[in-house]
Amino acid sequence: MSSTDLLNFGLYIDGRWCDSSDGKTFAVYEPATGNVLGHVASATTADVDRAVKAARAAFDSGPWPHTPPAERTQILQAIANLIDEHTSEFAELETRNLGAPLRKTLYVDVPWAAEHMRVFGDLARTHPYEPLPWTDMPTVSWNFVWRDPIGVCGQIVPWNYPLLMTIWKIAPALAAGNTVVLKPASYTPLTALYLVKLIDEAGLLPKGVLNIVPGPGGVIGSALAEHPGVDKVSFTGSTDTGREIMRLASNTIKRVTLELGGKSPSLVMPDADLELATDGVLFGVFFNGGQSCEAGTRCLVPESLHSEFIERLVARARSLRLGDPLDLATDQGPLVSEAQARTVEEYIALGKAEGARLVTGGKRANVPGFEKAPFIEPTIFTDVRNDMRLAQEEIFGPVLSVIPYRTVTDAIELANASHYGLGAAVWSRDIQGAIEVAKRLRTGTIWINDHHLVLPHAPFGGYKQSGIGREHGLHGLMAYTETKHIHVDLMQKRSGKLWWDALLPDVE
Ligand code: NAD
Repeated sequence: MSSTDLLNFGLYIDGRWCDSSDGKTFAVYEPATGNVLGHVASATTADVDRAVKAARAAFDSGPWPHTPPAERTQILQAIANLIDEHTSEFAELETRNLGAPLRKTLYVDVPWAAEHMRVFGDLARTHPYEPLPWTDMPTVSWNFVWRDPIGVCGQIVPWNYPLLMTIWKIAPALAAGNTVVLKPASYTPLTALYLVKLIDEAGLLPKGVLNIVPGPGGVIGSALAEHPGVDKVSFTGSTDTGREIMRLASNTIKRVTLELGGKSPSLVMPDADLELATDGVLFGVFFNGGQSCEAGTRCLVPESLHSEFIERLVARARSLRLGDPLDLATDQGPLVSEAQARTVEEYIALGKAEGARLVTGGKRANVPGFEKAPFIEPTIFTDVRNDMRLAQEEIFGPVLSVIPYRTVTDAIELANASHYGLGAAVWSRDIQGAIEVAKRLRTGTIWINDHHLVLPHAPFGGYKQSGIGREHGLHGLMAYTETKHIHVDLMQKRSGKLWWDALLPDVE
């Protein structure tokens, strides 16, 4: 990653790179070293306005919404191919900017981003026509549903899976024929910008179809959420920010998709394979350093297995390797920022004050060669009550709360006792029983004997305060369309006369 123009980026508006209107930039850091990785133009509200106007023109009078679906498919497949061809650059850049281990970015995040783009390429070709039942009431007609793109989509993404989140936003929007103004997170904007650079160099999209405006969320994200030229806002981030976005979007009744926070339970059933469940529960919580919305942060364990399972969890957690995120052997890198590490430390202190028992971790990890990096040890608390703040609030770091339960019914009640409802995992040998438990959990995704797998065809999103709407697959594509009913009167003039006669029976 030696090329400097790879790391310094402007705004991308109407098919051109440009400076922000006030010339300001912000620095982007590498959490493992504290070094500056690059500088990025910091958009102003005037820049947001320009970007929305460009996206508006590209939607209202440009070719994109009317491009034949098969052609859109080819373009999205070409973007997927670009990601594949540049896998190692994307993975290294993501790891350096986020701190996530290269093993994850290289083998999961980047290939997964290409795969999600490819699936939406396929879905773009899905004919947006839905026949309705034949009717002769009150006249013979042919009725069908046509799906239109919504228009200009303002898309705001968080810092925790920067490339994947970008793809999850732009792929369905572009597949359905919308135009986009994207705001990446300020900590981690580089892979989204690099993707736009590759798309621009390959000349894949008409100008104005994809615009990117990095900048401070409270200013740029808000400007997008309330801009009258934006038809839909799609936001992934915290529940508090989601609430604010919904409020701002309400002025112009924008379509809104919100993918928000979580406090997902991992339910270990009495018959679970404990070896499998130990690895699975730890993978559920510590993957990406605990910085995942769907992280399994509450582990519900039968009282009878509690001590044995804790022993297993602690032994395995202590074997995780913290180190240089660019080393393929590393399991957990530093957190994204010093600020995030401090938030996690505050929650660890809170957990102790609330009476939970710390059984492993709980402090900064000393990683030789990376003394200033924000590493936090994989941390496990037991004797946690589900009503403690430790078990109710999103920590977004490597902290697991273990909560004992008596009966499976109690476990389900505890799992549902949260204002979040994003995901849950059930660990059991009895698949039929696990499916019955899954049906009773109030969350958008339930993994049985697995965690984290967000499949490109499977709807993903939250119940309760974890969000509104679903991303991925056909559900995700539909969320970027307006539903239009087209009625064709097959009797032509006669139906109008029938209606008129019915309304005015006494008129000759
Ligand atoms: P955040 O809410 O602080 O920021 C998310 C994005 O919104 C960033 O781009 C930020 O700049 C922008 N933003 C901040 N304030 C804004 C405002 N007032 N108006 C408009 N935009 C604003 O979240 P974060 O810390 O970046 O990410 C972590 C959160 O994201 C966690 O709560 C996590 O659970 C959630 N998340 C959810 C999902 C999901 O699919 N449900 C996926 C990943 C992350």
